[in-house]
Amino acid sequence: MHYCILLVSPPVYLAGATAPPPVVHCSKSGGTADCTVTNAYGAFPDRSTCHAARAAFPSSEGELLAVVANATASGTKMKVATRFSHSVPKLACPGGNRGLIVSTNALSSVVSVDAARRRVTVEGGVTLGQLIDVAGRAGLAVPHTPYWLGLTVGGLISTGAHGSSVWGKGSAVHERVVGMRVVTPAPASEGFAKVRVLNAGDPELDAAKVSLGVLGVISQITLELEPMFKRSVRFKRSVIRDVQRLRDVNPDSLCGLEVYNGILMRWRCASTAACRTGGRTIENAAFEGAVNKYGAARVAGFMKVKRAYDPDGLFSSEWSDQVLAGGGMSVVRDGCALEGLCVCSRDSHCAPAKGYFCRRGRVYKEARVCRRDDKF
Ligand SMILES: Cc1cc2nc3c(=O)[nH]c(=O)nc-3n(C[C@H](O)[C@H](O)[C@H](O)COP(=O)(O)OP(=O)(O)OC[C@H]3O[C@@H](n4cnc5c(N)ncnc54)[C@H](O)[C@@H]3O)c2cc1C
Repeated sequence: MHYCILLVSPPVYLAGATAPPPVVHCSKSGGTADCTVTNAYGAFPDRSTCHAARAAFPSSEGELLAVVANATASGTKMKVATRFSHSVPKLACPGGNRGLIVSTNALSSVVSVDAARRRVTVEGGVTLGQLIDVAGRAGLAVPHTPYWLGLTVGGLISTGAHGSSVWGKGSAVHERVVGMRVVTPAPASEGFAKVRVLNAGDPELDAAKVSLGVLGVISQITLELEPMFKRSVRFKRSVIRDVQRLRDVNPDSLCGLEVYNGILMRWRCASTAACRTGGRTIENAAFEGAVNKYGAARVAGFMKVKRAYDPDGLFSSEWSDQVLAGGGMSVVRDGCALEGLCVCSRDSHCAPAKGYFCRRGRVYKEARVCRRDDKF
């Protein structure tokens, strides 16, 4: 079974190709206390700011273990924040304002490269750009990836990020994961934190692959890659036909698409991962009904691992609890559909005063989208 996902892309920082500013800011104790966390856009969809009492910047698995152990011992909520935090929803918020942000900014080393076995092991904070470079130097390729090189391997695995392909293992990067080391809470008898070592064939690896960060901190990931290759590009006829239908309905419509800067088409293969996000984790509305769609058995399997790894829910937040309970994360208010917070069901969810109304999709009639009424 294959998925085809049609998405409106988020804003891209183009001017001068500079990287976005850091997402974790702390005003006390040398930059480790009284902290805020945001995402690469500088704002979450509901325009709120997340607060945390402290932030830690471990640079090795040993330091990470100590950080998680300290927080577990004191019952502190934790969340991983990456270098740029490219996810739009509030995935990186520990909940409340007494939590701990665990930054993977300094957890960014390449651990090993085994060209003969086509395996590369990296720390969770290594960026996609770093991974592609190190693989390339060993004659290996990551065949399909999301297109933003500033994503981290830990972040893109945790959210099921992908490129576009149904060839071989498809385009989701987590399909190439054959090993992982995850630091989770543990009972006092085990020092309050432990490293879980997961290998190919281990059912817990399917849970840990796309975890939305609720199981613990991925310290290392091993990927099995492809030999370097030259790519020939072919298109799926049905996708082309759908785009042609969209074009025929309104020939101008593909010239200046909003909300931000265009249309992206993405597809990927079905996955064995226990949780599968419906596409990019860019909009709250994308999570609506996700749990029902992927089946109770898979979700139950994931929740079993979650209870074993983090019985007190220290890596969970209101946001992740709501998503995993099947509640979705729509924020329904005036204009919400234009902001990606909901799927519109009435005109006020768009911007009627500016000529945008909630209408059926032009090609996919069951869809509800905000559309400008040209007669307005
Ligand atoms: C311009 C742009 C283009 C994009 N293009 C694509 C695309 O082409 N395809 C696609 O699929 N997606 C795309 N995305 C979405 C993006 O891939 C996902 O949001 C991705 O997860 C972001 O990775 P990150 O490293 O920034 O992680 P974050 O957004 O910082 O983190 C995501 C989640 O993972 C958790 N996490 C991160 N690291 C770890 C770790 N080491 N251990 C445990 N949990 C962890 C975090 O706590 C958080 O819950 C794009 C986003 C942007 C902004």
